[in-house]
Parts: sequence; C-alpha cells; structure tokens
Amino acid sequence: MSLRQLCIDKGMRMTEQRRIIADVLEAAVDHPDTEELFRRATAIDAGISISTVYRTVALFEDAGIIERHDFRDGRARYEPAPEAHHDHLIDTRTGRVIEFRNEKIEALQEAIARDLGYKLVDHRLELYAVPLNDEDAKD
Ligand SMILES: [Zn+2]
Repeated sequence: MSLRQLCIDKGMRMTEQRRIIADVLEAAVDHPDTEELFRRATAIDAGISISTVYRTVALFEDAGIIERHDFRDGRARYEPAPEAHHDHLIDTRTGRVIEFRNEKIEALQEAIARDLGYKLVDHRLELYAVPLNDEDAKD
C-alpha cells in the first residue's frame, strides 16, 4: 500500500506538500535523512520548507507509517515501515545502507528471547562494516 493511502487510512489531512513528501519517501531506497528529503521534495515543489519536512516526517513517524533509524552518523534516517522485516548493513566508509534478511539470525534471536523467558516481538540489527576488498581499508 502506498504511503499516500496509509496517510489517508490514518485519517491524516493530506496537503499537496505532505503528498509530495510521502511520494519522495516512497520512492527512496537509500534511507534518506531530513536534509536529503528536503532536497528531493524542493526539486518537485520549491515552496516546501525544511520545517514542513521535519513536521511531516514526525507526523508520519508518529502514525507508524515510516521508521526512523540511527545509523550512528548523527542523522535520523527514514524509510517506509517495511511490510516484511529486514535488517541493515551500513558501509561505514560511504554510509551506504544494504538491506538483508537472514533466517538463521531471525531464528537465533527468537531462541535467545525464548531461553530468557520471552516471546520476541521485534528487533533491530545493524551491522557496521567496511568492504572486504577495499584497498583504502588497509590502514
Ligand atoms: Zn531498510
């Protein structure tokens, strides 16, 4: 389901600017931060202010239709709340974010929670990594 539709389903009043920001978030595959969302949104409508982007992102996050991530670079980054769970690997040299899912890890986390007397309901896993064959990494 599109972010636009999710907003409507949540009873949000959808202004044109909110629609644009929803579309920009929907189209993004790189987990952009607010500055980057602002840059992309203003390429469509130059009248969108940075504070509108901040407010809209906060609104979407509160409604649970987008997820905020902290990938340790001091910037909050966003993506539409995924329909299927995935985890992230962050290239610490470039900031590139790679999505993955590993069933062994999923099962192991459930087993750890169970052994501790809990039923796992959610988790976040972030791997911080450098490329194996990166010449610059040999320092
Ligand atoms: Zn993701």
